[in-house]
Amino acid sequence: MLQQTQASRVAEKFPAFLRRFPNPKRLAESTELSVLSLWQGLGYYRRAKNLRAAAQMIVAQYGGRVPRSVQELQTLPGIGRYSAGAIASIAFGQAAPIVDGNVARVLSRIADRRETTKGTIADEWLWSTAQKLVHAANSPAVLNEAIMELGATICTPRAPRCGECPLKRCCGSFKANSQEFVPLSNSAAPRKTVVHHACVEIRGSKIGVETRPAKGLWAGMLSPPVVESSSVYSTAKLLRERPDIKKIKKFHREFEFLTTHRTVRIRVYQVVFHSGAKLRWVDVAKLNKFAVSNAVLRMVKAALQNMQA
Ligand code: SF4
Repeated sequence: MLQQTQASRVAEKFPAFLRRFPNPKRLAESTELSVLSLWQGLGYYRRAKNLRAAAQMIVAQYGGRVPRSVQELQTLPGIGRYSAGAIASIAFGQAAPIVDGNVARVLSRIADRRETTKGTIADEWLWSTAQKLVHAANSPAVLNEAIMELGATICTPRAPRCGECPLKRCCGSFKANSQEFVPLSNSAAPRKTVVHHACVEIRGSKIGVETRPAKGLWAGMLSPPVVESSSVYSTAKLLRERPDIKKIKKFHREFEFLTTHRTVRIRVYQVVFHSGAKLRWVDVAKLNKFAVSNAVLRMVKAALQNMQA
């Protein structure tokens, strides 16, 4: 009943339906018309017909007892993988996974999986991840209901309330601050890819930064100097673009950062600036007290890790 129908509407109809059809046998023996009349107002009447057909199959093939395994449940009319998992785990305590839109979003964000949730590969990943979780859980029913509820109330598609989330310590998207873009919208227009060559110099405890342009990404915020382009530049070209760089010592690493419309490939270089370069030198440890993006914090982290390695 709850599939595609508001809970408040179901709440009005469910008690009377259950009084009239308290078990599969009574439902199997009913006329289609009597079932449809009690379903009145809920819409999607095929569900009522399937439910009655399922009751008849339960009586004919399973002696009137609802089967417990996901495989058997899926042979019943109207029962797919999700419903079978929900019945097996919540009604019978089996370690059966369920994946709906809410579960898909929560799992994608915890793993910071920057993909859509549609398609065969996404499907396989979601179901196998959900499977591993229910097998590790003390109570598959509680786990499945908790993840669905978290997705419906806290980990919402827009503006998730991460501050209140019990999973924030293990959530990849929370750590990367990518929750607004993860999972990727199934209908999103293809993102434009841009390359940011981040030129990082750390002198003792200080890092050289400048103010980003007044327009565009992270406008007006502080950042190590960045050369932006549509493709990867050679070090020679980077030196031509930034004549205030004396030397490029090494390439640290590349990571991706997603924004609403772009995939930003951030390539972090260790450089040495000329002494006259117009940079501001701020304490690395206090950088997060300034207006800097999360992308900058990741650049600096990458540079520091590489310098210590
Ligand atoms: S921390 Fe935020 S993004 Fe991660 S699961 Fe919780 S609500 Fe979702």
